[in-house]
Amino acid sequence: MTYWNERTECMDREAVCQLQLEGLQATLNRVYKNVRHYRKLFREIDFMPEDFTSLDMLKNLPFLTRRDLSRNYPYDMFAVPLREVVRLHTTSFNFEEPVVIGFTGNDMANWAELTARNLAGVGVTRDDVVQIALTFGTMSGPFGIQLGAELIGSSVIPMSAGKYKEQVKVMRDFKTSVLVSTPTVALGLIQAMEDLGVDPNSLTLKCGLFGAEPWGEKMRSEIEAGFFITATDTYGLTEVFGPGVAWECPAKKGLHIAEDHFIAEIIDPETLEVLPPGREGELVITTIGKEAFPLIRFRTGDLTRIDFEPCECGRTHCRISRIFKRCDDVLVVRGTSVVPDQIGRILSQAGGFEPSFQLVVDRAEDKDRLMVVIEATDKFFFDEMKKQRRLVENLHRQVSEFLGWEVDVRLVEPGTFETGEKVVDNREFD
Ligand SMILES: [Zn+2]
Repeated sequence: MTYWNERTECMDREAVCQLQLEGLQATLNRVYKNVRHYRKLFREIDFMPEDFTSLDMLKNLPFLTRRDLSRNYPYDMFAVPLREVVRLHTTSFNFEEPVVIGFTGNDMANWAELTARNLAGVGVTRDDVVQIALTFGTMSGPFGIQLGAELIGSSVIPMSAGKYKEQVKVMRDFKTSVLVSTPTVALGLIQAMEDLGVDPNSLTLKCGLFGAEPWGEKMRSEIEAGFFITATDTYGLTEVFGPGVAWECPAKKGLHIAEDHFIAEIIDPETLEVLPPGREGELVITTIGKEAFPLIRFRTGDLTRIDFEPCECGRTHCRISRIFKRCDDVLVVRGTSVVPDQIGRILSQAGGFEPSFQLVVDRAEDKDRLMVVIEATDKFFFDEMKKQRRLVENLHRQVSEFLGWEVDVRLVEPGTFETGEKVVDNREFD
């Protein structure tokens, strides 16, 4: 078993808790001093950071939501001046207001350490060639992997997503041994290999890290069989660095959370009470090492369970179960967060009226397909059928352009959406 940082990854629970308490005390002091949002929240509950003496007290602090972060767009959640920030990333622009996340030099170093633990944990060494097939842009994902792989000393190919045939050529000719991508891209590459007649045995791939969208055991088997590799899950969110937050070790029994950097809680998303280990609920993350963009009790919207039992790999950091669902209306499809309100705004702008609609996601032929189902009210009835067709085509084009991939648009009878559900996820992950 390979560890990047054995002392930390395998430290006993008492030491983890001590580290968390000290890290949290320092973080609370810093955010109280430097971030108006936290200062206001803490004053409202009459809380002073110096009163924080035990980890049990965390449950009394207020939550932080994605909306809080966007309300403070762009820089009001930063706990350091901008001149100390060396990198800026944003969350998906599909949210109403994006969120800007800053990193100091120390944050970057910590991020590299976290993703290096992930990569080393699944067997990546300095002898490996790591092909990163994630889109390099303002989202943080591929950059975190790059930092970790370079810290280990591997050779990095910043390939970006798309261009599957070129990717397969690079994979074969550059002797790629590690692939990092979304599972959808991995399956696209397997298909491209088949189309090109490339035998997976002729490649030097040994493992792959996949994430940024929900994927189950069936997809894992397909990816492992298609490439002859071991495929593991990696979890992160841009608000909290990106990749490196939690990842599967070779035991594949949950994703280890780096507890020397994050405190994880599971809450009931309705009552907001903290749930005991083993119960499914919303993952809440508190950062204890981040300088530029610390988060106290950030509600991720992701549903999972937590397990504090030591893992067979020897690591003591707790594990969360694989994440397939969210507790809000956000759909994660093809690595993109799809927010119904945002789609509603596009439909209103494109159609000139507010349609009643539902987003339906299905998985067919290894691909997620998103359908925008709209109730055909009298606004859709024209003297000529071609006018209706043109309107539907326009809606289809606008939404597809916004997301960057094709969606389907379908009209249904008025009154179909009696339940008022905005999203229906028909994908099965187990
Ligand atoms: Zn493990």
